[in-house]
Amino acid sequence: MAVGGCFCGKIRIEFNGQPLKSASTAQAGNPIYVINSTELKVSGNPKEVAKTADSGNKMRNYFCPDCGTPLFGRKIHSNGDFDEITIVRAGIFDDIQMLNEQKPEAELYTDRRLQWVNPVEGAEQFGGMLALS
Ligand SMILES: [Zn+2]
Repeated sequence: MAVGGCFCGKIRIEFNGQPLKSASTAQAGNPIYVINSTELKVSGNPKEVAKTADSGNKMRNYFCPDCGTPLFGRKIHSNGDFDEITIVRAGIFDDIQMLNEQKPEAELYTDRRLQWVNPVEGAEQFGGMLALS
């Protein structure tokens, strides 16, 4: 089990599983994990903001209303149901060992790569976001 949370500590999360995929963005190296939503337990009341992703997917992004830490995002289907997948910001986890072991398998937004962000060796390259089924 991995635990984590926001900067101020009012939102805590527990993750009981293995990421389905780990990725980072070529814009600023932000690592993310794609996980099963059922394996994420959230305590506290994150605030949600709706957004349409570049892909056209409707997303809800969650952050701490007190300190502003971005936490995770979920895709919403056209019928309003949440997708079974959650995209978690890896940086919210306290577990350095997990972060070390979960080297990004994919790199996202490579079309917008910053000059000082080196490609992750062996990671699959995507010009935009991962295609979430
Ligand atoms: Zn907070």
